[in-house]
Amino acid sequence: MTPDANTLFLRLEGPLQAWGDTSKFVIRRSMDAPTKSGVLGMICAAMGLSRAAARERLPELNRLAMGARIDRPGTRWWDYHTVGAGIGLTTAGGGVKTGAQGTLITRREYLADASFLVALRGEPSLISQVAQALATPIWPVYLGRKSCPPSVPILAMPRADESWANPGHFNTLDDALAAVPWCPRYDHDPTPRGTADTIIEWRAAHDDDTAPEEAEVWYDAPVCFEPPVHEPRLVLRRVIAVNSGGPAQQRTPAPPRPRADYNNAEYKERRAQRLEADHGLCVFCKAPGTTVQHITYRRAGGDESQEDLRALCRLCHDAVTMIEYGTGMGLDRIDPCLPHWRDEILRTRGEILRFRSEEGRRRALRQASKPVVRELLEEEGA
Ligand SMILES: [Zn+2]
Repeated sequence: MTPDANTLFLRLEGPLQAWGDTSKFVIRRSMDAPTKSGVLGMICAAMGLSRAAARERLPELNRLAMGARIDRPGTRWWDYHTVGAGIGLTTAGGGVKTGAQGTLITRREYLADASFLVALRGEPSLISQVAQALATPIWPVYLGRKSCPPSVPILAMPRADESWANPGHFNTLDDALAAVPWCPRYDHDPTPRGTADTIIEWRAAHDDDTAPEEAEVWYDAPVCFEPPVHEPRLVLRRVIAVNSGGPAQQRTPAPPRPRADYNNAEYKERRAQRLEADHGLCVFCKAPGTTVQHITYRRAGGDESQEDLRALCRLCHDAVTMIEYGTGMGLDRIDPCLPHWRDEILRTRGEILRFRSEEGRRRALRQASKPVVRELLEEEGA
């Protein structure tokens, strides 16, 4: 390892992974790539940090910029989960909680057989500490949920014929993710594969940089694990050339976040029909519609009717999703056509726009330990 090594590579691969965007829901979804919260949680476990100790270290760990390369997206999978079949729940104190709720039903989403290359970039001394912790973890590490053990060592290692090092020195996360050759599933898989999808954290290089329009807001920068508190960060989706050592070759617009089986031809067809029925416009603000979202999960993945879907623009979609993060909505989601959501959607849209703006971004970078959204709300007197 060179003394200026500023980039660490993790290989996140296993039968199941679950990168939840929230832990409060009855439906616990998974994002389509590792979250910062999940990855930093893994590092804290490897370092043997208690939740209280983790809170102390998180401001420093959050300074690591993260990029993920989706080498295999995996297959989305649900489990059906019940707690206490009407017989009462045993509490930690040894009592029995009968309650009026009866059986608690939750659904959890997983990515089966996915493989991600994650790069973390930051101060060489911190990179070296994290590398040591992951090489000899104090507590077990897992891929987002405790039921998801990794199937290969977390620290990615170059093959004998490869020239990259872990940790290594790179000027950008794009360069880092491009430098590691794509890892085939089986020895007989066709190689090399030329490009890969990536999700890379966006950071301002200069004070007057503004986040690109297509940047997505992910609420996954952990402030605290118990109770879970997250701050937003901006990420960009790009297709990069792999193992060329070059910078990003092209940009792609952000696709809608996968929720149901988006590869299902039937679903694609219904989605296209819905966009056409809505004249290609967002049902809320009439900007060009870029995504179609479910308003219920009852019939998702191709069995839904046009009534279950709504065309939305990126901003309204993000606003609606963000509101849902704070509400336990079960199988139903927010219908942006309902008048009683109007003010809340407008307010949240404003919040996202402010966060994207220069001022909000500067504040986010300078006060990494302070929850940005809460502060913005306080300013508004909300
Ligand atoms: Zn809109």
